[in-house]
Amino acid sequence: MLSTMQDFPLTITSILRHGASVFGSAEVRTWTGEGTRSRSYAEVGARAARLAGALRGLGVDGDQRVATFMWNNAEHLEAYLAVPSMGAVLHTLNLRLFPEQLVYIADHAEDHVVLVDASLIPLLAPVLPRFSTVRHVVVVGDGDTAPLAGAGKELHSYEELLAAAPAEFDWPELDERSAAAMCYTSGTTGNPKGVVYSHRSAYLHSMATCTGNAFGLDAGDRILPVVPMFHANAWGLPYAALMAGASLIMPDRFLQAGPLVRLIETERPTVAGAVPTIWGDVLRYAGEHGADLTSLRLVPCGGSAVPESLMRGFDGLGVRIVQAWGMTETSPLATVAHPPAGVTGEDALPYRVSQGRIMAGLEARLTGDDDTVLPADGAAVGEVEIRGPWITASYHRDEDPGRFHDGWLRTGDVGTLSPDGYLVLTDRAKDVIKSGGEWISSVELENHLMGHPDVIEAAVVGVPDDRWQERPLASVVVRAGAKVTAAQLKEFLAGHVARWQLPERWAFVEAVPKTSVGKFSKKTIREQYGKGELS
Ligand code: ADP
Repeated sequence: MLSTMQDFPLTITSILRHGASVFGSAEVRTWTGEGTRSRSYAEVGARAARLAGALRGLGVDGDQRVATFMWNNAEHLEAYLAVPSMGAVLHTLNLRLFPEQLVYIADHAEDHVVLVDASLIPLLAPVLPRFSTVRHVVVVGDGDTAPLAGAGKELHSYEELLAAAPAEFDWPELDERSAAAMCYTSGTTGNPKGVVYSHRSAYLHSMATCTGNAFGLDAGDRILPVVPMFHANAWGLPYAALMAGASLIMPDRFLQAGPLVRLIETERPTVAGAVPTIWGDVLRYAGEHGADLTSLRLVPCGGSAVPESLMRGFDGLGVRIVQAWGMTETSPLATVAHPPAGVTGEDALPYRVSQGRIMAGLEARLTGDDDTVLPADGAAVGEVEIRGPWITASYHRDEDPGRFHDGWLRTGDVGTLSPDGYLVLTDRAKDVIKSGGEWISSVELENHLMGHPDVIEAAVVGVPDDRWQERPLASVVVRAGAKVTAAQLKEFLAGHVARWQLPERWAFVEAVPKTSVGKFSKKTIREQYGKGELS
């Protein structure tokens, strides 16, 4: 028999209503470089209504796409709430993509309007004329709009549009399965692929993020999403904040270690999420200049493996890093690495450096070469597959059936699963180093290398080898002034991994090349090696 429960849709509109009313006095505080400008959630709700009206006035109807080309700030939050709630689809453009990729995704998504931060006009201007479906550009903040003039689009001022729009908007009743927002994967190979989130998936992901086994968010929190709102929805933190009644601290374009430390010391966030590269910079900055990060009760970190040295460094500052794993396709949060109840100190470390436990609502499994399901025994190594209500089942206008398997998403990540649900990633499938029939984990070598006191960054890739098929090449950035040789690093590594895994090829570089979302670009390293640029 059916239940007696109401069939009430899970929508971003209800997150908006809840945040703007019940938690109307919570704030979004945007860093200006000098101080902060603040807006209450009640004001954000009122302005979201005006924005929806203004967008309607620009012809946004049905499920049309509204793109943002913006930093993390109050106006971006308004767009996050207004666009999905009016029934349209928010498309966050990753402003670090190459021009060709930006043009590709704006066209592929068929964006109708672009909201752009004035500070980003110089970056948008060269590609805008090639955005073939875009009709309107709305400029947020003050700046010279002249570079946008010849692009053949109608230009508008965000604040003028809002001022002219009606104060109320009649939010439509939406099907919870309808599209709310979309995000393209950064496309390390081939064209970027579009993932389209539903209202339901965003809602459930936000609820899960608020729970204690994830980040345990509540109205006492002040959340600093350093992770960009154009990358996997800033890990869902903006919606989760509205739901929890937690205030948001937005860094805008000030993402260097120095300004971030100042922001943290001034605004005293309790939770701050960013990729390991950023926290590595902050840790070094803190070591050189001192920093008070003690307001932070929790630092969610992910996007790539969190080195143990980084965790220990933050432990030393009295700040707890919690590793999480996920991908654009998984909304993105899928696992969170809290140790089991009662396990503390050094004993907790193996759990904390794992990718974590699968969140309630999701299921994970491992598969082998021939797609057989492998045991979750902490030993068998296979590709991670995942399913659940906030996992994508396909890509936007790009089927790619090879990524899906009997209703599970093939993540492309390789690792082990323990009987009590801890996932340990050893690599991405395409980065695994196959040496003489054995697998070498590039991540493991990197983590150990980054534990050396003179090593700032280390990326390990497989390069062709006549005898072994592939061998590891270690690309290393050392601390300024440090004199460390390949032989010394090799000896250091020998204390941690089997001898046959030790790289014989080493490159000392000034910086490891990064992707548009700040991860090591192993593709670029392999290309550089192929061209003989790394010895
Ligand atoms: P892209 O595929 O372009 O890198 P995503 O940002 O969606 O875009 O990246 C998802 C991938 O990032 C995962 O599949 C995984 O390989 C990696 N990743 C994310 N979090 C972690 C983590 N905590 N540890 C190791 N790898 C991670």
